[in-house]
Amino acid sequence: MAASDKEHLSLLCDVSEFAARLAGSADIHAYLSQIVGLVADHLHCDVCSIYLYDDKTQELVLQATSGLAPQSVGNVRMKISEGLTGMALRELRPVREQVASDNPNFKPFQGINEEPFDAFLAVPIQRGIEKIGVLVVQRSRERPFDDEDVLAVKATTSQLAGAIENARILMGVPKAQESAATGQRPPAATRMVKGQTASRGFAHGPAIIHDHGAYHRLFTEAPGARPYSMDDLQRALDATAEQLQGLQERLGQRVPEMASLIFEAHLMMLKDTAFIGEMRKRIEDGENPPQAVLAVGRKYSDLMAASPHAYMREKEHDVEDVIRRILANLMGMRVEVGLNEASAVIVAREMYPSDIVKLATAEVGGIVQTSGGVTSHVSILARSLHVPMVIADDPTLLDLPEGTPVVLDADIGNIYINPTPDIVERFSQRQDARRQVATQAPPQALPETTATADGTRIRLLANINLLTDIDLARFVGAEGVGLYRSEFPFLVRNTPPSEEEQVSIYRRLIEGFEGREVTFRTLDIGADKLLLYFDETAELNPAMGLRSIRFSFRHDDIFRQQLRAILRAGAGSPIRIMFPMISSVDDFVRAKTTLDSCMQELAQQKLAHNASPAVGVMVEVPSAVEMIDTIARRADFLCIGSNDLIQFLLAVDRSNEKVASYFMPHHPAVLRSLQRVAQAGAAAGCEVSICGEMAHVGAYLPFLIGIGVRALSLDPQFLPPVQQQITQMTLAQARHVAQDLLAQDTIDAVIARLPDLDQQHSD
Ligand code: PEP
Ligand code: MG
Repeated sequence: MAASDKEHLSLLCDVSEFAARLAGSADIHAYLSQIVGLVADHLHCDVCSIYLYDDKTQELVLQATSGLAPQSVGNVRMKISEGLTGMALRELRPVREQVASDNPNFKPFQGINEEPFDAFLAVPIQRGIEKIGVLVVQRSRERPFDDEDVLAVKATTSQLAGAIENARILMGVPKAQESAATGQRPPAATRMVKGQTASRGFAHGPAIIHDHGAYHRLFTEAPGARPYSMDDLQRALDATAEQLQGLQERLGQRVPEMASLIFEAHLMMLKDTAFIGEMRKRIEDGENPPQAVLAVGRKYSDLMAASPHAYMREKEHDVEDVIRRILANLMGMRVEVGLNEASAVIVAREMYPSDIVKLATAEVGGIVQTSGGVTSHVSILARSLHVPMVIADDPTLLDLPEGTPVVLDADIGNIYINPTPDIVERFSQRQDARRQVATQAPPQALPETTATADGTRIRLLANINLLTDIDLARFVGAEGVGLYRSEFPFLVRNTPPSEEEQVSIYRRLIEGFEGREVTFRTLDIGADKLLLYFDETAELNPAMGLRSIRFSFRHDDIFRQQLRAILRAGAGSPIRIMFPMISSVDDFVRAKTTLDSCMQELAQQKLAHNASPAVGVMVEVPSAVEMIDTIARRADFLCIGSNDLIQFLLAVDRSNEKVASYFMPHHPAVLRSLQRVAQAGAAAGCEVSICGEMAHVGAYLPFLIGIGVRALSLDPQFLPPVQQQITQMTLAQARHVAQDLLAQDTIDAVIARLPDLDQQHSD
């Protein structure tokens, strides 16, 4: 590595270390002063300055400098329409000049000591579309800035953006002594917890803690209140039934594949003569109805919790939910969390997929989970249902008093507890801006097909988890479905769907895409996608257990039923079938044999079906990469499942927030494995696509296209920005990036070449 590369790397390390230290602190000025010093030092600059943008006044204000006169801080300000610094932010691109004053846009300031340093480089600090500020470096004209310098400053600003944004928001929080001096009541401590984005968006609402502890506390805090009557109980039961029916209807519209509805269990309970009868009996014996409801609730939930069967234990949540609703209707008390979820921020240690569906149906504002990973399936489901979600490894969040105001900035993974009015206003504005952009985006503006600037065709397909994803996928112009996660209808229900039910779900998907190609991934049950009705799926190490194709092999009847359903639904339509977690040639041969046998069976039964689907392999286990040449010769297509491939290649649990920083698509081993797959696909003449989360991260796109990936399957919201980025690159550029990255041996060296790494495409 050249000496300057090393300098740039150590600059980046220092900056990211400072950024980490700043997280959660409001001392932005001290922080910025350290940063300008660091940058000036590492890049051998005479001047380094940071300007922050005030969107109310549309001004850039100098906030920290190393090299300019100290009194200029806070005093040098300019409109975004002025000067080279303003230009950098306005046009969101670096502005570089060997002699700044030669540029007619240059705006000189007197008395700040910048005259001797007219080699000039200004780089915008931005977060998605949000303008945060500008970092400016200056030297004497004999030492102008080169491309390497631009890269290094860009890498620095992308590290800075999030940290500055947090600190700036927290700056609005009055310090304890300030509020004492002004005689104002100190606000409940505003605090920020940093998490990871699982599903983007914004939420503002009261916290509701979903944990067993809270539920059990509910039993010990038996409400005294006034005496209630049997009639009151009946009214509460009727109101609860009505609310549940309403929820059920909304759920049916939102998630049509849930034919066996999840609120059915609740409604059954309300009709259960033993359950309700016991409450009545207690009331007849003189107990006040709230106590009677709680006592019966406790008895049943304890019974469920003690069950050896997972699906029975899960019913403990159902009992909890029903009891809360009855009590709320009976007394209008605070334990009514089940009813009050609309716009609330739910905080939970962990959740089941069915919880996410329930919460989405109840229109919660957002979810915070204190365990899990952003590529976990609960996160994927939250994205499909457009529920903002953050994963934060901070168990103290579960101790928040119910009703604590929370702002969730799930775009960058920040959770603000007791936010100040300023913070709330800032995020509301951002939310409004986002809505405006969303409603203004004309669907016809997107080209129907996508190609690089020099004409290499790249197919953009959608990942579909639930049928509700279809509308957005069509709206943004997906060319088809690159990954249908067929396990979701199995996951969100209490019983497995029959073959007929599957046929109708799959048909709706195919019809939704009107003749475009649909790729069915067969069941990927296991790992964090447990079926409550199959106890055996509870394993010590489930990601590597009886999962996915192994589950299908074990349960041949379920496997065959699914394959038959796909083939039947796909009669006369262009469908592809791919098998997940293939770890050997033998796995693939076995899966194909079963598929062939299903086709024969359907032919014998004279049932209409697709007799020639394309059959492919998900490449997501390292042993498949080792055998990829042979696999590629036997498959019609290869689809890289980078979520699992990275997990297994790097031995990093994708659902474990504690090792999230080790989950690195940019690890040289991952890059080289991907290249091997792409090469094998090219040699065998079969298409190579990618459907893991890495495919929508802008920083990786040139690499993926450069190695030969020609189809990307993404969550639909990412299609427009990815399409735009592809049309702006040439294949030659992409190949150059790929070669350069593949030549690197260390993670750090790769990071240094990916300055936009933390800038994912925003939705
Ligand atoms: C993957 O592993 O990258 C993938 C797309 O499959 P899933 O996330 O469903 O495991
Ligand atoms: Mg996978």
